Amino acid sequence: MTSESDTDKASASTPKKQRLVKGDLVKKEKHRLQKYRVEWENGPIFSRWIARDYSDIYKAQCKVCETSITAEKQDLVKHSEGKKHLKNLSVIRGSKSVTSYFASTCSSSSETNTKKMATVAEIKLAAYLAENNIAFNAADHLGKLLK
Ligand SMILES: [Zn+2]
Repeated sequence: MTSESDTDKASASTPKKQRLVKGDLVKKEKHRLQKYRVEWENGPIFSRWIARDYSDIYKAQCKVCETSITAEKQDLVKHSEGKKHLKNLSVIRGSKSVTSYFASTCSSSSETNTKKMATVAEIKLAAYLAENNIAFNAADHLGKLLK
């Protein structure tokens, strides 16, 4: 077994624009806030969990961890490699639709209708049943009870 200590150096060399316009841009070159980018939703790293944070354009949400992250690519990558995130990802694999449903009901207050709520309740129930390995017979009975 090899035990290589992998020093995680984020050696992303960002080429700085060297514009030498005298007097024009003096000290305005602060770190600009990164806005959320929709294209991340199609990216290989983020597509499975990223979502827009409707309350803050400079933030992104993790559907899996139900947390918001600064919309900096570095931060997002860091989050995607985090232990907690990876664990959460492995938990929800296969039931992706459930989290996206929750996310959409939480964020879009204008679209909240009872039909959606009912769907969410149904999914919740289904997830609960699946999680607890409840036999289909029992589930069927439960369904009758609820109606
Ligand atoms: Zn996450």
